[in-house]
Amino acid sequence: MQFYSTNRKVAPVSFKEAVIKGLPDDNGLFLPEKIPSFSDDFLNQLSKKSFQEIAFESAKLIIEDEIGDNDLHSIINDAFDFEIPVKNVHDNIHVMELFHGPTLAFKDFGARFMARVMGYFLKEDGREINILVATSGDTGSAVAQGFLGVEGIKVTLLYPKGKVSKIQEQQLTTIGQNITALEVDGTFDDCQLLVKTAFLDKELNEKLNLSSANSINIARLLPQSFYYTYAFSRLNRKEEDVYFCVPSGNYGNLCGGLLAKKMGLPISGFIAASNANDIVPHYLNAGRFAPKPSVQTIANAMDVGNPSNFVRMLELYDNDFAKITSDIKGISFDDSQAEDIIREVHGKYGYLMCPHTAIGYGGLKHFLKPEDTGVFLSTAHPCKFKDVVEPLISEEIEIPLRLKAIIEKKKHAISMNKDFVGFKSFLLEQSI
Ligand SMILES: *Cc1c(COP(=O)(O)O)cnc(C)c1O
Repeated sequence: MQFYSTNRKVAPVSFKEAVIKGLPDDNGLFLPEKIPSFSDDFLNQLSKKSFQEIAFESAKLIIEDEIGDNDLHSIINDAFDFEIPVKNVHDNIHVMELFHGPTLAFKDFGARFMARVMGYFLKEDGREINILVATSGDTGSAVAQGFLGVEGIKVTLLYPKGKVSKIQEQQLTTIGQNITALEVDGTFDDCQLLVKTAFLDKELNEKLNLSSANSINIARLLPQSFYYTYAFSRLNRKEEDVYFCVPSGNYGNLCGGLLAKKMGLPISGFIAASNANDIVPHYLNAGRFAPKPSVQTIANAMDVGNPSNFVRMLELYDNDFAKITSDIKGISFDDSQAEDIIREVHGKYGYLMCPHTAIGYGGLKHFLKPEDTGVFLSTAHPCKFKDVVEPLISEEIEIPLRLKAIIEKKKHAISMNKDFVGFKSFLLEQSI
């Protein structure tokens, strides 16, 4: 399989090159040239397959022979060694909990898969790379955990100062080894701009082997399609139409679902649910894509003003607005609505959600018809947003042990302002 750039100004590349590069030189995004189809046999046997089997067969269709079967099995078994519960919350509403990995958020799926795939390809070549990651909270720690101790890979994390939760900051700044955290005096968009500018900087590219690990890397996107297929296979349904609601920021998670549907998974449609950063819902409802500076919300991992995967959404639907809007509905919730949802669902059904997940529930509840079946994606453990959630339910949330240990560690972060010159010289010094 070859991977093309959505800007179409550079030639298509192999999976390996797309993964190592992260971003094509023309500043587009990589996508597979042809979207393969699941076989009927695969779709008919789904309910008998484990998550790992579904992941392997889905990945194989896209990666083809660039990773041998045995290695691909090891990568998958090692990356996805935690549970993925699909539960009924009430009536026809289900939740898929994607937060049982090491950092308690769904980004563990993409990050762990990508880290192992990159490690595999780098070992093949005896190469070294520098990974730059802008994070609004959860990406960074998931990526860093994924790469921790991987030889030949240095990771630099950029996060917006004062705009991530205490727990998130601890997760970002206490890892050590081959991971460095930069505390940027700016917003997530500023961090993302620094990373994007670095990729376009000639000198940096000559001196450092730069790579990206944000949701724009194709190896992060791919595994985010596996769990839609898995959840679909675990629903106790007859002929009901199935809808997924995805709480979204950069829309990588949603794109994973769109990919699974395009490969033939019979999903009837999606709901893209956002916080006040409603760029994509606004596009879906009003037909205009109008990026704007991000605003801060309680669902801060979705505070994105210019979602980078939007181009992929367009590509997957051939830029056809009618096609996009017939498959995807958009809705947004402000902080007080999200708080009400957390309170209500906890009170009525005893199910506790983080603010992002609450937005996913809200979107599904709004659009789902009684005769259909719906799944919302739970993207983080509620304890990661303790400060927001606890006052709403007047109860203490129990923190899993693996997170408790991190909270007690000492923070190590390098302060940085948001202008590119300082960032660039830091990178150049690091590389010596
Ligand atoms: C990153 C993140 C999201 C948004 O996912 P995208 O792929 O950027 O749309 C939602 N919830 C949580 C907890 C996240 O960390």
